[in-house]
Parts: sequence; structure tokens; C-alpha cells
Amino acid sequence: MKITPSTIANSPRLTVIGTGYLGATHAAAMAELGFEVLGVDVDPDKIERLSRGVLPFHEPDLPELLTKHLSSGRLKFTTSIEEAGAFGDIHFIAVGTPQKEGEGGADMTYVDEAVSAIATSATHDCVIVGKSTVPVGSARRLQNLVESVKRPNVNISFAWNPEFLREGFAVQDTLQPDRLVVGADDDTAITALREVYAEAILRDTPFITTDFETAELVKVAANAFLATKISFINSFAEVTERVGGDIRTLADAIGHDARIGRKFLNAGVGFGGGCLPKDIRALQARVSELGLDRTMAFLHEVDNINLRRRERVIDVAHSLTNGVNKKKIAVLGTTFKPNSDDVRDSPALDIAARLYGQGADVRVYDPKGMENSAKRFPRLTYSESLEAALEGAELVLLLTEWQEFCEMDPVQIALLVDSKTIVDGRNVLNRTNWIDAGWDYHALGLKAVHAAEVALV
Ligand code: NAD
Repeated sequence: MKITPSTIANSPRLTVIGTGYLGATHAAAMAELGFEVLGVDVDPDKIERLSRGVLPFHEPDLPELLTKHLSSGRLKFTTSIEEAGAFGDIHFIAVGTPQKEGEGGADMTYVDEAVSAIATSATHDCVIVGKSTVPVGSARRLQNLVESVKRPNVNISFAWNPEFLREGFAVQDTLQPDRLVVGADDDTAITALREVYAEAILRDTPFITTDFETAELVKVAANAFLATKISFINSFAEVTERVGGDIRTLADAIGHDARIGRKFLNAGVGFGGGCLPKDIRALQARVSELGLDRTMAFLHEVDNINLRRRERVIDVAHSLTNGVNKKKIAVLGTTFKPNSDDVRDSPALDIAARLYGQGADVRVYDPKGMENSAKRFPRLTYSESLEAALEGAELVLLLTEWQEFCEMDPVQIALLVDSKTIVDGRNVLNRTNWIDAGWDYHALGLKAVHAAEVALV
């Protein structure tokens, strides 16, 4: 029997399978929209904490939403996939797709397991909606997997609905997305998702329905574009560092062209996190599998430029300290971006760890990323405060643009350090203020400017 829109309940009950950064946010946001939601994870500790209203990671506005809907009774959590199969009419898949160990491709083990488990457990007609970022071709393969494992009397419709949320703005992006994309080959899934996203659709949010392949590709195309834009400006930063020039002015000037735009043109230590790096590598791997070896070759360079930024900071640190061995270096920021505690593939943490490996006395401070950083690199020295990290520093590296760091007063900070030397790895500080306060100010994309030299001019 072909499943039809009328076979799905009018006010569908939702499950979200995988309650990490994406899934926990999606679950709480769906409860906020008025749905009954069950979050499912294989990690009992995570589920226990979420059930108590304790968010296992940092995301602005999410703790309040979590508490609100545990109280409203609309949001519950479980480790039981059987419970989810009996409960849900629409099941969102939000498990991880990390980079495979030693390879560029995406590890689809978790998605395959989650889809198979929920399809096997579903006791009544339902829709399974993939949200994880997956290699093109996965949705069609998974649809076949669903058909092969589901109970014979249960009809399951299938869709891919990629997620575009930004960590740090995850709640806002989920409740007010800038577009919704649904890949499906039957109306049931599309009708069900129109109901889920009715509020956003009423506000004229573009609701783009398409085939599986386009939906999968939209997500990786967006991330490949953003990564390319960052590496594009960073490649020019390499040039201005060599010949002179100011990368910020260059970015401002080209950014005025509406076809280019200023966003994502901040030169610095480059991109990181749980998405961009692995997504561009997975895209290259997938396209190679398809026999299109040269098609995404430019992404290899995008990745290389990005990784070279980290080496550049380390080189600059060596030259400013006459070798980093035993030098006190304050590293400000370990997360891959501000307003998140995510340190996955973080340029800041990578630089801190490498400097430590080269003998530097690294003092690290991050407003929210200390716990996750310490899990990865327990031997770094984690300072209690910004001031403690700066105390006696011979070099300061600003590597994540937290507000607290952007607002530092160069005059006050100067009283704490041993040497007034700073590398602005994110191009966020007011250069003039720092130089006026007597600092030896360096930024990526800027030829070295020394306070002493300026004084001579
Ligand atoms: P995450 O690692 O924070 O969370 C994944 C969760 O899935 C974990 O809690 C894990 O225990 C759970 N899990 C694994 N296997 C499971 C199973 N069989 N059943 C139930 N739970 C299971 O990952 P994330 O950052 O939330 O990313 C999830 C997906 O969303 C990835 O594909 C990612 O690329 C994509 N995505 C992430 C973001 C983001 O900003 N984090 C944005 C857009 C898309």
C-alpha cells in the first residue's frame, strides 16, 4: 500500500534521533513550536542530563528552551528506540557523520544504524526525515534500507531535510530558518514537513522541495562555498603579509560589491568546527568515488590554505619570541568560534597544542571551551580567567573572537603581561588603540607593525 498524507496523524508526534548540537536544538525548538517531542540518543549520560534539564554543551538560549519544555511536558528524552518507534509519526535523524579515521569520506555508520533501528521499531505509519549532512546518494540508499527492514504492515515515507543552523545561533536558526529544503519523492513526507514548519512557511520562509540528490548537495554546496570564501581571503592574506597592504581594507573594499558581499571575508586563523572541514573533505571523497576526480580538486587547496594559517601563527610566534621554547604564551580562545564550546577541529586549540608540543609554556583561557579542550589536551595549562592567562605572558595570541577578548583594554592588559606583544589571529582588535598603548601589534594579513617603528615615523 502506498502511504498517503491522510495516514499521518493531524498533530504529528515527533522524535529526534541523536541529541547532540543539532538534535537537542531541533528537539527543543520543535517543542517550542507546539509539538510533542521525544529525543533519543545511545549515550545514556547525555539523555540523563537532558532529562534533568542540563544541557551537555554550550548553546545560547537552549537551556531556557529545554527547561521550559521539560516543564510543559512536551519534551522528553529516552535511550529506547522501541519507545521512539511506538511514539513518533515523524522521526528526525540527527546523528553525527564524522570524518572516517584516516580518510576524507564521511562515516555513515551512525546514520545507517539510526535509520535502520527506527525503521525496524516503527509500529505505525510514519515519516523518517534525515537531517544529518551526508554524501550525495545516501538518502536513496537509506530509503531502500528502510523498505528492506520495516515491518510489513507499516508504511514509511522518507525525506532528506538538511540543516543549516549555526552553532552560537542554533535556536534562532531553527525557529527562524532562512530557508527550508526538503528532498523527497512522495507527497506524504512533504505534507508532513509543511505541517512541522507551518509557522516559518507562513512567514514566507522559502520552502524548497526537490529530489534527494539536490537536497543532499545543497547542504555541502553551501559549506563548500563558505569554506572557499574564507580561504579565498586568507590566500590574499598570505600575499599582503609578504608585500605589505592591509587585508581588512581589501576585504571591506571588495565586500562593497554586492555580488561578493563582506560576510565570511575575515582573514584569520581559518575555519574549523564539526562541519566545514569534514564536509569539504567528504565532498571531495564522494565526488572522486563518482569518477569526477578533478571536479572538486580546488577544495583540496581550500583545505590547505586553511591549515597553512595555523602554521603561519606558529611561525609568527617563533619569530616574535626568538623561539617559543619555555616562553610564556597566553592563548585566548580554544573553541572554533565564539558562543560555542565546540572544539572539534578548532584552529585555536590546534595552535595551542602545537606550541605546547614545541616547548612553549602555554596558558590557555576560553570562556566556554575549557572543559572540552581539557578532554582533548589535558596537559595544557588552563587558566581560571583571562587575567590569569595574561599574567607574565611574553606573547599574547588572540585566536577565537569572543566578545570578552574583542573588548580588552590594551592599557589595562599591558599591566599584566611581561611583553606587550600580541597577534590578533581574527583581525578584530582596533590596531590604532593597541599601538597607541605601546603594543607590538601583529595581525594575520598585515605586514608586521612594531610600536617602535611607528614612533620613528
Ligand atoms: P554530535 O556529535 O554533537 O551529535 C550526534 C549525536 O548522535 C550524539 O549525541 C551521539 O551519541 C548520537 N548518536 C550516534 N548514533 C546514534 C544512534 N544510533 N541513535 C541515537 N543517537 C545516536 O553531532 P552534531 O554536531 O549534532 O551533528 C549531527 C549532524 O548534523 C552531522 O551530520 C553534522 O554534520 C550535521 N550538522 C551539524 C551542525 C552543527 O552546527 N553542529 C549544523 C548543521 C548540520
